[in-house]
Amino acid sequence: MELSDLSEIESKVLNQLQGVVDPELGSDIVDLGMVKGVVHHDDGHVLITVALTTSGCPLRAQIQRDIHSKLSHIQEITKIKINWTELTQDEKSDVMARARLNISQEETVTQIPRTAKSIMIASGKGGVGKSSISANIASGIAQRGFTVGVLDADIWGFSIPQMLGLSGRLEGDEETRKIKPVERKSGAGVLKIISMGFLIDEESSSLNWRGLILNRAVRHFLEDVEWGHLDYLIIDMPPGTGDVQMGLAKMLPRSDMIVVTTPSKTVQNVAARVANMARSYYLRIAGVIENMSYFVNNDGEKYFIFGQGGGKELAGELGVPLLGSVPIDENVSKGSDQGNPVILGDGQASVALNDIVDVIINDAVPLNKITDCSAYIEQETAVELNR
Ligand code: ADP
Repeated sequence: MELSDLSEIESKVLNQLQGVVDPELGSDIVDLGMVKGVVHHDDGHVLITVALTTSGCPLRAQIQRDIHSKLSHIQEITKIKINWTELTQDEKSDVMARARLNISQEETVTQIPRTAKSIMIASGKGGVGKSSISANIASGIAQRGFTVGVLDADIWGFSIPQMLGLSGRLEGDEETRKIKPVERKSGAGVLKIISMGFLIDEESSSLNWRGLILNRAVRHFLEDVEWGHLDYLIIDMPPGTGDVQMGLAKMLPRSDMIVVTTPSKTVQNVAARVANMARSYYLRIAGVIENMSYFVNNDGEKYFIFGQGGGKELAGELGVPLLGSVPIDENVSKGSDQGNPVILGDGQASVALNDIVDVIINDAVPLNKITDCSAYIEQETAVELNR
């Protein structure tokens, strides 16, 4: 495929495909040379040829879904067709070499295990329940037996330690000179938490820190924290689009993002801006969560206090699924104040949040399964042989 021959729309498509990561190889499919052709027809149809390591690879479905999600917001495209082919043996070796090179270059940057799925929880503005959702989702995933890192990157308004009932200080490992996260059991799993709250005493004192310093602090959290094994990393992002958000997007290009919104139109608009920033850094938007969707009184009557349908509209606009809607429930704020996430207790919000966690782990952001098409295994073996 000659880049110079591509039309404007075909270049746009290729640009978006740079955000589609082969789940096993960990690099994007354009960089790996797996995209063999992009043809856009005047009727809005686009035909993409993708060569896989093995044509029967079960991860094909995930790659296909990601391609659809990436291309869905290019207005000019009306239909996407993917022609799947298989890499030749030589191409396969090149792809593996490229993937290995990318990994070796990346490993110096973050200490987050390559197999961990990182999910940024983002919102356009504060007060929509982004931190509450982060704390609850992390606890819910861990409760199902996973090891979940929580990076409280909402440095101006950190609230994760309080919501998870933790105080204390971060400690360093004398030998490795790395910071150790604060750990807490959650059901069958473990939470490993890093927050500015473990470094400074007053939330208000972080307000005086300048953007650049904060950005460095977050960098340290990624580079100098000994996370150890992680299945998931949940990142509570600061609201909006600023230096810290962009720094994180650059450092974690394989991250997925979940956007939290409320039913209100204004919140929906600012949330769309955050999603677009993320996409410009090639992050994948895994879905939208609508919080504070409605209130049910003791007689079972439902009130749509902040309006109706904002989450669904935002999801439609972004071309991603609505992962669920969480009602207004006093148990959410009570749970946060007491350090007992509501997801581990009862009530309507708990039910909704548990459903969302199931959707995330089963469908929206499943862990990579090592399969028999596993380029991953092949790649790992090759890494060992090279040593
Ligand atoms: P953000 O991180 O977006 O600034 P928070 O998670 O801190 O928002 O939530 C803001 C306030 O709203 C908190 O007091 C929290 O307890 C409350 N809250 C969040 N979600 C709900 C909900 N579904 N029902 C009731 N209260 C909620």
